[in-house]
Amino acid sequence: MSTDSRIGGYRIGRELGKGGFASVRQGMHEDGSAVAIKVIERGSLNPDDQIRREIRLCKALRHPNIVPYVTHFVTESNVYIVQELVEGGELYDQLEAAGRFDQPRARKCFAQLVEGVEYCHRAGVCHRDLKLENVLVATDGTVKITDFGFSKQFTNGSPKTVVGTALYVAPEVVLRDGMEYNGEASDVWSLGIILYLLTAGRFPFNRGHIGGVAPGMTLRSKEKFRNDNFRVPSHFSEDLTSLLRGILCADPTRRLTIADIRAHRWFRAGEATTRRDHPATPPSPPEHAEEPVEWTVISVASDVGEEVAQLDFDSTDDEEEEWDVEFRSLVI
Ligand code: ADP
Ligand code: MG
Repeated sequence: MSTDSRIGGYRIGRELGKGGFASVRQGMHEDGSAVAIKVIERGSLNPDDQIRREIRLCKALRHPNIVPYVTHFVTESNVYIVQELVEGGELYDQLEAAGRFDQPRARKCFAQLVEGVEYCHRAGVCHRDLKLENVLVATDGTVKITDFGFSKQFTNGSPKTVVGTALYVAPEVVLRDGMEYNGEASDVWSLGIILYLLTAGRFPFNRGHIGGVAPGMTLRSKEKFRNDNFRVPSHFSEDLTSLLRGILCADPTRRLTIADIRAHRWFRAGEATTRRDHPATPPSPPEHAEEPVEWTVISVASDVGEEVAQLDFDSTDDEEEEWDVEFRSLVI
C-alpha cells in the first residue's frame, strides 16, 4: 500500500498493526500529540460506502470502552481514519504473554467489554467482529473496542450478511447464510468466545483454518459451526461454566442476553471491582449515527517520498529537525 507520509497536519509513522483490510500507523500531529491512523486503500476490496459506514459509526459511538474517533481524511487513493492512540497493544498480545487470565482478571476485562458492547447495542449498532485483535488495552488497563469495519446499524433492518471471523462468529450467522439474524445475540456469542479464551487460554471450538467467513460456504465448512459443546477445563468454577454454557448456546433465542449476563452470579461476584468508575455515558441516539460523513477528496503531496513514510518516531533529533522544516512547507 502506498501511503502518503503526511495528511492534514499529521505525519504518518510506523505501523502499529495490520488487520485484514487496513494498516494502522502511528501518527503525530503538528502540536505533538500522538494518534493512530487507520489507512484504508480505496477500491473494490474496500468500497467507499463501506468505509463511510465505518466512519459514521465509530464517530457516533463515544464511550470509555470504545476507541475514540478523532477525524478523517479522504484522498484519491486512501481514507485515513484518525483515532486516539491506545498504547498498551491488543488484548491478544496480553493473553499470549499470560497464557490465560485468572478469573478476577478475566472478569474485569470481560465486564468492560460488556459495557462497550451494551452501549453499541443501545445505540442500535452491532459490532459483528468482536475478537481479541479488535480489543485494545490502554496503559491504565482500560479495555477499548475498535474496528467498526463490519458493524451495522440494526435499527435500519436486521443484519443478513455472513461476516466475521470463523473462530468467533455465532453459528446462526453462517448457518442461516443470507437470512436475517439478531446482531445483538451474535455479538454476545463472540463475547462468550472471548471469555472462554481469556479463562481457558484456548479456543472452545475447532473451526479449522478458515479465517474470515463469507456468504456461500460449503456444507462441509458449515458443519464445523453446528457444535456448541465445549470442553470444560478442570480449573473452571461452576459459575463460570454455567455462564459460558448460557452464552455459547447455538440457539440464539435461548442464548443469554447482555441483561442476563449482568445478572449472572459469576459476573456479579466481581461487581465491587468491576463497577463503572465513570459516569454512565448516555448512548447516542441512533439518529446521531445517521449523520452524513464529510467526503471531500483532498490531494496530497504524494511525491514526498517513501523513505519519509518509513521513518519512525524513535528518530534522532537531527531527523526530527529535518521533519519540521519539510513539514511546514508540505502540510495540507
Ligand atoms: P482492520 O479493519 O484491518 O482489522 P483494525 O481497525 O482492527 O483494522 O486495526 C488493525 C490493528 O491495528 C489492530 O488489531 C491493532 O493492533 C492496531 N490498532 C488499531 N487501532 C489502534 C489504535 N487506536 N491504537 C493502537 N493500535 C491500533
Ligand atoms: Mg481488525
